[in-house]
Amino acid sequence: MSEGQLPSNVHVLKPRTMSLSDRLDLFLEKNALAPDETLVRRDPTRPKAPGINAIRCACCGQMEYLTREYCRCGHYLLGQLEDEFLEWKDGLKRASEDIAETTEQRLRAVRLMSLVSMPFIVAPLLYFVFNRSEITIYAIMSTAIGVMILGVMAITEAHVCKPLRASKALLENCTWQHFLESRSWPGNISENLD
Ligand SMILES: [Zn+2]
Repeated sequence: MSEGQLPSNVHVLKPRTMSLSDRLDLFLEKNALAPDETLVRRDPTRPKAPGINAIRCACCGQMEYLTREYCRCGHYLLGQLEDEFLEWKDGLKRASEDIAETTEQRLRAVRLMSLVSMPFIVAPLLYFVFNRSEITIYAIMSTAIGVMILGVMAITEAHVCKPLRASKALLENCTWQHFLESRSWPGNISENLD
């Protein structure tokens, strides 16, 4: 293509952003030639997209009401929605398995760290057993440090297990109704409908 030639769809690629004069702007707006006016108007018999009430037909690509069993093109929309539901359920299951694996790895590390507390607790005990001496301030301090480490590790363990508990709860409640609600969550609308 030479420098002088422009593609036929140049008006689509390069919307008018520069104002030549107020009179020209007024003329373009009046005659529906301004970019805002040239947008494709939505079919009023179709649901608004994206929306919680809408589903994009996999066959014709048109938006259709979620409550309709069949699209106007004849495609079985309920089946498409059921497929989406099974896919969503599988996705949750896979995510839960991933979280379980990560949690197990983290828990192993936490339990290993808990072993650090053992010498602080076991050493004073062994000392009493073998020497039968009186309780010293060092023994009390050592036991206190050991118990403190165990306490911190218990809190860490509960924190590490939190996402897994949430994920399992979600998996137990993944009903059809829950799926329909999750489609309308912000961020899921475009994902589900596009
Ligand atoms: Zn269709």
